Amino acid sequence: SVTRRPLMAGNWKMNCNHLEANLLVQKLAASLTEKQLTDVETVVLPPFTDLRTVQTAVDGDKLLIGYGAQDLSPHASGAYTGDISGSMLAKLGCTYVVIGHSERRAYHHEDDAIVNAKVQAALTHGLTPILCVGEGLDVRDQGTHVAHCSDQLDGALKGLTAEQVAKVVVAYEPVWAIGTGKTATPEDAQEVCGAVRQRLAESFGQDTADKVRVLYGGSVKSSNVAAIMAQPDVDGALVGGASLDAEEFAKICRFP
Ligand code: PEP
Repeated sequence: SVTRRPLMAGNWKMNCNHLEANLLVQKLAASLTEKQLTDVETVVLPPFTDLRTVQTAVDGDKLLIGYGAQDLSPHASGAYTGDISGSMLAKLGCTYVVIGHSERRAYHHEDDAIVNAKVQAALTHGLTPILCVGEGLDVRDQGTHVAHCSDQLDGALKGLTAEQVAKVVVAYEPVWAIGTGKTATPEDAQEVCGAVRQRLAESFGQDTADKVRVLYGGSVKSSNVAAIMAQPDVDGALVGGASLDAEEFAKICRFP
């Protein structure tokens, strides 16, 4: 069997100014021991405007916390007003970037082609994409959620080599479970996370599929994280709301 280091990633979404970001990251680090931070990779994903804040805290106090952005431009540089490039993020010490979050797909009309271009841009700049896939309630009710997520995965990874895919983190986030308090059951999470790994094995080989960390996201809390993490194909969680409370997110990171 393969061991994959668990990853807990806190998606702050559009929350926290500079002062709040500084407080949150310091509190989080103070709530976890060095061993806990070594055993479970702990990452925060603040808004762009807080990245320098988080970088300063992490570098200054040598915190064992990783960080990244919630989006990036598919372009390298140039006339793209309001956008942020992968090289800018890398320069700020980011190691991760969320790509294809359901809120980006819904509110910014991001399709599989854009998501694919962003995954390529992230990898070009040495950033680890946290690629989000997931179905809405309509698809879940039709029972076609596995095919839906596999299609999103195929679209997002189009043209990538197995070596590149091995570096990607996939997050299964059923849209009906995001911010709703409705968590998928551990079995629901395993069904799709297992299918994601199966699809990766078919397309890029079992060795590659075994290296990819697959996260579950959607109303994860300290009270439900252990059961979800007990599933064989769930390697971590992408946490929204609960990651804004340092003690609660620390509890999630202490799931074992
Ligand atoms: C998310 O948006 O990535 C997420 C999982 O949100 P929440 O934990 O608040 O459901």
